[in-house]
Amino acid sequence: MRFDIITCLPGLLQGPFNDSILQRAKNKGLVEIYIHDLRDYAKGKHRQVDDYAYGGGAGMVLLVEPVANCINSLKLEREYDEIIYMSPDGQLLDQKLANKLSLKKNIILLAGHYKGVDERIRTNYIASEISIGDYVLSGGELAAAVVVDTVVRLIPGVLSNESSALTDSYQDDMVAPPVYTRPSEFEGLQVPDVLLSGNEKMIEEWRFEQAIERTKKRRPGLLDK
Ligand code: SAH
Repeated sequence: MRFDIITCLPGLLQGPFNDSILQRAKNKGLVEIYIHDLRDYAKGKHRQVDDYAYGGGAGMVLLVEPVANCINSLKLEREYDEIIYMSPDGQLLDQKLANKLSLKKNIILLAGHYKGVDERIRTNYIASEISIGDYVLSGGELAAAVVVDTVVRLIPGVLSNESSALTDSYQDDMVAPPVYTRPSEFEGLQVPDVLLSGNEKMIEEWRFEQAIERTKKRRPGLLDK
């Protein structure tokens, strides 16, 4: 799987992909992540990527040409399954959408900044838009990193124990049960006996019951499904 992330602030994306699970996924060749600096596709000495909004008002708008140039040059190299604009008014990211994206091969994620991208990019180049929640970030970079993270961990082979993504919250319309590690006693709190029993069937049943209880309390709407 391959992600191409388009941004005017590539520095914001240096960290998230170079540690832990994402780094290992890259090393194993299971995912490729490329970051494209809009300035490399901008014209003029100043390599301008934004300008004032027509009609006035505060906030700059990302220029059409650098974005279009970047998308077009990527499209010349390969076919993309999805060209996605990160946007607070897009489809809300959830586990179902992450599962769907994890089956794709090539995805472009466009991160906006300032007031966003010129509407004509959305009209001519963007087929889907994703929001990571009903709040506004300063840029789409962190949102794009969230999408990459949640999708990549679903690719078979990325997590060391493949089943561990399947037992996470939302995969089966439930939230996850509580987890414990050593020591078995901490500040008067004991790890539930069943987890120390070594009886796999009982442990599985206990986890299932706990997951149901938690879901009832925290996300009751999920159980209706
Ligand atoms: N003026 C826009 C917000 C721009 S925020 C509005 O009111 O809708 C700047 C950029 O941050 C956006 O272009 C988008 O790429 C990104 N962004 C902000 N909030 C986001 C969210 N919740 N999900 C995904 N991307 C977001």
